Amino acid sequence: DEFRRLVLEEREALQEDPKWTDWIDSTKDAAESPLEKPASTEPVASAQGFENWAKTNVYRQRQPGFAAASVTLPLGDISSYQLRQLATICRRYVKDTIRTTVEQNFLLRWVHELDLAALHRDLVEIALGDPGAQTIVDVTACPGTDTCKLGIASARGLAAVLRQRLAAKNLQYDEAIKDLRIKVSGCFNACGQHHLAEIGFYGVGRTINNYKVPHFRVLLGGRWTENAKAFGLSIGAVPSKRIPETVDRLLDRYLRERQNSEHFSQFVTRIGKKEVKAMLQDLMVVPPHDVDPSFYTDWSDARQFTIGDITAGECAGEVVSLADFGIAAAEDEVFEAQLLLDEGNARRAATKALGSMLTAAQGLIKMQNRDIADDPELILAEFRERFYDTKLFFDPFAGSKFARYLYIAYETRNEEPTSELAHQRVEEAQLFIEAAHACHARMLEGQRKRKRRPPAVDAISTSATL
Ligand code: SF4
Repeated sequence: DEFRRLVLEEREALQEDPKWTDWIDSTKDAAESPLEKPASTEPVASAQGFENWAKTNVYRQRQPGFAAASVTLPLGDISSYQLRQLATICRRYVKDTIRTTVEQNFLLRWVHELDLAALHRDLVEIALGDPGAQTIVDVTACPGTDTCKLGIASARGLAAVLRQRLAAKNLQYDEAIKDLRIKVSGCFNACGQHHLAEIGFYGVGRTINNYKVPHFRVLLGGRWTENAKAFGLSIGAVPSKRIPETVDRLLDRYLRERQNSEHFSQFVTRIGKKEVKAMLQDLMVVPPHDVDPSFYTDWSDARQFTIGDITAGECAGEVVSLADFGIAAAEDEVFEAQLLLDEGNARRAATKALGSMLTAAQGLIKMQNRDIADDPELILAEFRERFYDTKLFFDPFAGSKFARYLYIAYETRNEEPTSELAHQRVEEAQLFIEAAHACHARMLEGQRKRKRRPPAVDAISTSATL
């Protein structure tokens, strides 16, 4: 109601513009109608795979005799040749209208059921006749590091691998899990809608022994149905190369232990995030670079995943910094906040989320002041002086956004939070901790660059004089 009031208030202040409503009359131009009769004048022999395609890609419309058919585009990709041919196919079976879907496919509506076999045969000819649209194998991904300058990890690379593995097991036909969704984003911005999927991932970076390692944060329990009923909550960050194994483990256990028709999200809630995290804990460990260098590259990219020219440091003390400890402790705390949220304890969840941000901030401060006390007021003051005012903590694109989460949570700490607000605080704490990881990596990189820089000329001459 408050939002509505604000919108109306804003509208009052605006000058009337015909453009606001003129377009309404043109909406009828987009009205769809079917072809008067099927394009196929006689029965057509179905192409190989028609049965499976019809099972996953075809939906009967309410209007008798008509169906909607999805055209599967793995990773949303289509070539210009296929696009032109598809336009011709559309005109043949459904006039001019085709829709794109949020799951990166095309949708053809008003297909005469009698035309389905012919439509599929034509799609197969241009390599667009795959089954599995809108099933678990139809993994959605944003561009990630392929083409997005904000990308941290290869969302498309991971999605391609997952799709291949899940399809090889024919999971798109498994009634128990075929309707689950897996969605991947290259960073927290969520263009891949990872937060709405039952199993979602977003790319994050971790610095381990001076190497940058691509990771994905695992979010479980989102619901894309019922108007995106629930957002998934984070379980932890897993190295990118272990995500396929993570998915296998989650699905195997769900299939083994689900009760009756229990949905995946209900299953996760029942066994508890603590248990899920324990189940994945060993997958979160990154082997040393000399044991398995593959962990230090991303999917579809053979190059070492580094920031600039980071190399192994010479100083053992650098291997695990005080900030590493602080941020790791913060991750544990925010995970506990999630558990409290699950138990319905909004007040304690919000407090724990604030505590996790303070712990992460304190960890960063320790890189400059080892003796920083545990007092929140002191942490906030030093964080402002060292990381906010200097913009050291600022995200290159989101600016001060994540730092402000800390101050807002602290200023409102005495208010009684609703469960929605507590949920928001937990999510903000996760983003704050990710920003702390990124800030830490930038600081380490800066330190190394300074170490490698040759001494200034006047410094050399001074020592020569001495
Ligand atoms: S989620 Fe991040 S990486 Fe993916 S498209 Fe959006 S901004 Fe780019």
